[in-house]
Amino acid sequence: MYPALLGNRCGADSNSAIVIDPKGDIYKCWSDIGIKGYVISNLVDKNKNDLKELTKYLLYDPTQDSECAKCKIIPICMGGCPKRRESEIIDRCSRYKYNLRDHIEQIVLDKLKEEIIVSN
Ligand code: SF4
Repeated sequence: MYPALLGNRCGADSNSAIVIDPKGDIYKCWSDIGIKGYVISNLVDKNKNDLKELTKYLLYDPTQDSECAKCKIIPICMGGCPKRRESEIIDRCSRYKYNLRDHIEQIVLDKLKEEIIVSN
């Protein structure tokens, strides 16, 4: 129930995840499937390798992001959805940015209720 510390946000910014479409085109993000400019490689065409696309999501550093660098919840958000960030969609913040205190308080209340029920 507690928000977890994040090393990366999802498969797009993980060094061990890729998405492969039916044609063998390889992408970092499933939202990029079908967008030719986002293909990083192809299972059949060994000459097709786009290092820039491969590293686009991987090299993002939220501490270098002007908005995220000031944010208190950066360890549990890490800059939000890489695709939304890359697409410059403003709404990319974790819900915890707005409700972390309420969320933690609710966890504590639930635990206290559990203990009261168990002890009775
Ligand atoms: S909540 Fe928003 S500002 Fe904070 S780290 Fe996440 S994306 Fe950045």
